[in-house]
Amino acid sequence: MPLYPIDIEKRLKALQRQARHEAEGAPYVIYALLDPGEPGLQFAEGPFNGIPFYVGQSCEIECRLGRHFRKSQKLNPDSQMVHRHIARLFAIGRLPRLAILETAQTRSQSLMAELRWGQRLMRDGYELANTSPDIGRIMGVEELTAWLDFRRSSMLASEAAREGIVIVHTCTCGHVNRWIDPADYVACWPKRLRVSKIASRTQQCPGCGEDCEWWLDDRELLASRFGPSYLNTCSSLALRRA
Ligand SMILES: [Zn+2]
Repeated sequence: MPLYPIDIEKRLKALQRQARHEAEGAPYVIYALLDPGEPGLQFAEGPFNGIPFYVGQSCEIECRLGRHFRKSQKLNPDSQMVHRHIARLFAIGRLPRLAILETAQTRSQSLMAELRWGQRLMRDGYELANTSPDIGRIMGVEELTAWLDFRRSSMLASEAAREGIVIVHTCTCGHVNRWIDPADYVACWPKRLRVSKIASRTQQCPGCGEDCEWWLDDRELLASRFGPSYLNTCSSLALRRA
């Protein structure tokens, strides 16, 4: 039988409490949503008290859970697979459960942990309603780096600054590499500024005017390779041009 909205609301509140309690104030949380199965079904073996059907990571776990529940009650043609799945559970009277899988200190760690958990659960035979096909396949180091860069490029400048991530521009005609530090943008730019936006604004090579290729690197690693002053020069040069 379908559920009453009040039941759904109560479950959401309970999951938010659970998340708050288990995350213990960590900045990032990796979580799974679980199907409780048939009424009375026991999950004695294994780490989950339900069947995992989704893996996610968030820096605002309680809001994220609220969004999952809200969007599942208002499906539209663009609805994500996970929300369709939750809606199906609601329709047969099942309330999702939550497992906090891991916590992380940075977005990069959080993204990597999400991928690792997703792959592990799929290997264990669980069907995930994640849209990302990357979770379903094992990646080589190069592919993994590209994937992480892609996911990290949508992180906020403030997050990148906290993690010490810098943007590296490489000119295809051979002009010298440029480093852009998102930290330089945090103070005077809008709060929701994303790394990809900074990269595209600074993409043009001052030497030839062509668009550079860019990737993300670790500030400390670069500084140890090239020296901190070099990093500063490049960054301020690029800033003036931005
Ligand atoms: Zn150039």
